[in-house]
Amino acid sequence: MILLNPKNYSWDPLDQRSREIMLKTIEFFEGKGRGKTKKDDRERVWYKDFLDFQKSERAFSTLLTPTPYALDPDSRWDTWRNCAFNEITAFYGLQYWYTWQVSILGLGPIWMGQNEGVKKRTAELLREGGIFAFGLSEKEHGADLYSTEMSLEPAGDGKYSANGRKYYIGNANEAALVSTFGKFTDSGDYVFFVVGDRSGKFEVVQNVVNSQNFVAEYALNDYPITDAEILTKGRDAWDSALNTVNVGKFNLGWATIGICTHAYYEAIEHASHRYLYKHYVTDFTHIKQLFVDAYTRLVAMKLFALRAIDYMRSASADDRRYLLYNPMVKMKVTTQGEEVINLLWDVIAAKGFEKDTYFEAATRDIRSLPKLEGTVHVNMALIIKFMPNYFFNPAQFPEIPQRADAADDAFLFNQGATKGLGKIQFHDFNIAYNSVDLPNVSVFKDQIEVFKELLLKAPPSEAQTDDIDFLLILGELFTLVGYGQLIIENSKIVGVSDELLDQIFDFMVRDFSKFALQLYSKTSSTDVQMDLCMKMLRKPVADRGRFEQLLTEAYSLQGQYRWND
Ligand SMILES: Cc1cc2nc3c(=O)[nH]c(=O)nc-3n(C[C@H](O)[C@H](O)[C@H](O)COP(=O)(O)OP(=O)(O)OC[C@H]3O[C@@H](n4cnc5c(N)ncnc54)[C@H](O)[C@@H]3O)c2cc1C
Repeated sequence: MILLNPKNYSWDPLDQRSREIMLKTIEFFEGKGRGKTKKDDRERVWYKDFLDFQKSERAFSTLLTPTPYALDPDSRWDTWRNCAFNEITAFYGLQYWYTWQVSILGLGPIWMGQNEGVKKRTAELLREGGIFAFGLSEKEHGADLYSTEMSLEPAGDGKYSANGRKYYIGNANEAALVSTFGKFTDSGDYVFFVVGDRSGKFEVVQNVVNSQNFVAEYALNDYPITDAEILTKGRDAWDSALNTVNVGKFNLGWATIGICTHAYYEAIEHASHRYLYKHYVTDFTHIKQLFVDAYTRLVAMKLFALRAIDYMRSASADDRRYLLYNPMVKMKVTTQGEEVINLLWDVIAAKGFEKDTYFEAATRDIRSLPKLEGTVHVNMALIIKFMPNYFFNPAQFPEIPQRADAADDAFLFNQGATKGLGKIQFHDFNIAYNSVDLPNVSVFKDQIEVFKELLLKAPPSEAQTDDIDFLLILGELFTLVGYGQLIIENSKIVGVSDELLDQIFDFMVRDFSKFALQLYSKTSSTDVQMDLCMKMLRKPVADRGRFEQLLTEAYSLQGQYRWND
């Protein structure tokens, strides 16, 4: 079974130590139980118990220390197993995932920097159970990093004085080190430095959010810095900010998968026991459709995100394809997650509001993931740059196998310049699409051909290119093509049945039609564009037998998992 079931955990392959961390984490949450976890959520209790647990198990230390700085033999930065940890923590509560996630972000500029002293200290702090924070955002400037106001004023002899405020910084209340982004007052160059001394000049102003998480506003008031705390300067500091987000935002898709999987178990459990008008809710026709759609969308999310791991881990200066698949995990998987929760909420209905359900928190948390670390619009604006080369200028690459090996993902901390995205090439997406012969994949391939025709015959005008909303729809269509490609690639690796793959392409065809209609309806779309959009509108091939088979599969999750009370 591809979906996580903590009662029968399988994330294969995993070495012994990694499996031990995953199983102990499950044991921690099952031991804590639903009642206490939900109570802590309602009462916004700082998750000291979880942090104590991770400290005693050396979980963050093992999972987040790259090999060159490892103090234990099993420590390495291994995206394969880190995704397993993402999935489990979010399965039990997004807040537990968040403290791990912002530690990852805080560690990014450290491991990417050139300061060997800080790196060695960080490995020790991790081993002592420390958590970390990433001080990038400022209250007034949002995604606009150019306007950063945090400043470092040189005072001679390699000494500086830091002044300024950061806002929305997770873990900053307790982090052993807070990686902080700022500018030198004299040169205006960017700089990343760490702060950790809490004896007065580091002020935690407030928790900005209403949550178990501590998402801080903090101020540095003449905080003394020396060269020993500086991680990177100038272009390197800028690149490490963006490259850290590249590493971190991948995890948002994985958190989404964890949330949706738990919500799915609750929904199927409830619906299959609820008896109305002499029927179980699972017998209603529309409920069957909702479950088949939720199940196939969720499996597709995981198939895609698993395959994206392979490209993340195989990335190199010559293979930067991950820069397309990674934002797709961030924005496509997270928005698909919202869709899955919407579908399931129509099933579980009032029950999804109850305070003791996981579902109630899922409906709240699922909405945050598409919006953080770059909104859908921002990520779409990013990937649209890849579209010409993706469709019209493919390159040859050796085939990437599943990357579940126990390797250290060193390239992620050595990604280099963040420029030149438009030059990145991809392998031919037709290789995947032509490798299967299924009715809905064929319809989808026809839709792709018309989309390509649109890009050649009626590409967006200058005004349309300036309209982010127009680009967003174009980007959605492009994203579907890449999404389907990696799903097909992984269906062979994981061993997905033809029926399941074809049912996945049933919703893919519908989604393609939906976005084509949106493009058609844009005020600025031209006659030629509208004609081609109409040609993209297609209906999936219906197959009752396939649907029934998938329904059985979707319903087989009933009774498989229930959180200990
Ligand atoms: C719970 C939570 C935890 C967080 N944790 C951290 C953390 O630990 N560390 C940290 O540094 N930050 C953190 N953040 C900040 C987060 O990453 C912010 O979302 C980010 O700084 C962007 O700011 P903003 O959301 O206010 O949006 P803004 O940047 O103000 O954007 C507003 C709107 O403008 C659009 N927009 C912005 N830029 C562009 C562009 N270039 N092109 C087109 N449209 C654009 C956006 O799509 C959006 O619709 C956190 C935020 C929250 C809510």
